[in-house]
Amino acid sequence: MNLNVKEIFYSLQGEGGRQGEASIFIRLTGCNLRCNFCDTDFENGKDMTENEILDIIEDYPCRWIVWTGGEPSLQLTDDVLLYFKLQGYFQAIESNGHYKLSDILDYIVVSPKGNTDYAKKINPYVDEIRLTVAWKGMIPDIRSLPKAKMFFLSPVFTKYLTSTQANINYCVEYIKQHPKWRLSLQMHKLIGIE
Ligand code: SF4
Repeated sequence: MNLNVKEIFYSLQGEGGRQGEASIFIRLTGCNLRCNFCDTDFENGKDMTENEILDIIEDYPCRWIVWTGGEPSLQLTDDVLLYFKLQGYFQAIESNGHYKLSDILDYIVVSPKGNTDYAKKINPYVDEIRLTVAWKGMIPDIRSLPKAKMFFLSPVFTKYLTSTQANINYCVEYIKQHPKWRLSLQMHKLIGIE
């Protein structure tokens, strides 16, 4: 089976509950949404088989794959996940949660976008909710979201420092009032890695 792959790279997880862990990122092309704050290029990939992907990633001394995008669940099938599971990999996904996510996955991050009411109906239990906060007032009631082990607010980083700082300040104050949330900063951007 072919996957359309935008890029494969080896780095540290920059955000959320696995922050700082070495991970192999496989970015698949395509997304069902067009968020106005999106800073990810997920178009124009290359068709690759599972074997071709394995040839690249088996050189890395790491057994964690992070499937990302775009929206990786548009392409990921159970057959693909089983293939890499049988090769000894743990697999995480970073998804907007618009589609049912496979039980084969070892770690599920859902970042609901826009009106987040859909997320709980489709994936009631996940490992991590990571809510991208692009502007004030967009944080939903935590009870309306899927049940999760961890809930993170991730302020969008922009090149305009003042809006970034204001966004962080807003999240900090929100978490102080709603302590089930935690702050997730995009470490990879702060320390200048992929
Ligand atoms: S869901 Fe994620 S990848 Fe898709 S457009 Fe929105 S921010 Fe970008």
